[in-house]
Amino acid sequence: TRTTSRRGESAARLVVLAGPTAVGKGTVAAYIRQHYPDVHLSVSATTRAPRPGETEGVSYFFVDDAEFDRMVDAGELLEWATVHNAYRYGTPRGPVDEALSHGDSVLLEIDIQGARAVRRAMPEARLVFLLPPTWEELLRRLIGRDTESGAEQTRRLETAKLELAAQGEFDFRVVNHDVAEAAREVVDLLNLRKAPPLP
Ligand code: 5GP
Repeated sequence: TRTTSRRGESAARLVVLAGPTAVGKGTVAAYIRQHYPDVHLSVSATTRAPRPGETEGVSYFFVDDAEFDRMVDAGELLEWATVHNAYRYGTPRGPVDEALSHGDSVLLEIDIQGARAVRRAMPEARLVFLLPPTWEELLRRLIGRDTESGAEQTRRLETAKLELAAQGEFDFRVVNHDVAEAAREVVDLLNLRKAPPLP
């Protein structure tokens, strides 16, 4: 099944939320899930193990390597990537196509490589880059809380610099000063048919 542009048929939109590690994309996506039930939030497949509190089919579809390979080979993923050189993550294509065909807007919370792949597969997608309020704030979030080695911290900072450099490829930038405000800005780009409830 191929996704066609629904422009003209419906205002439903595909919006990709990406941004550097630790900028808070997951928190913004979780806020949208809770406060804007009309948004179809895509559930990714991943080969990593569930963390405490994560639910199968809500947080992710947790699959093993063989099942992930099968999904890739069967063309079931709209995009996929190996994130932080460890586990694989991918967006199941079927639910995205189905939601858009019903006129529902869809949000993907994925990494920057994934955003680039969606741009190639679906040029009509809107790409949103979530920015930290300041570089210092990102540094604080990246290294503030943990006990990792200096080498690991340096690696993370280098990754963050590279990730921030990708922002020019995106259609929109949203600064994550405040989760409710950032969520509202992202939702505004989704063109919901019904007015969303006020959070
Ligand atoms: P976590 O393991 O902390 O839940 O997620 C790690 C990273 O994987 C995050 O940057 C998240 O945006 C990214 N990610 C989650 N799902 C997908 C996906 O389906 N595709 C891609 N490309 N990245 C994803």
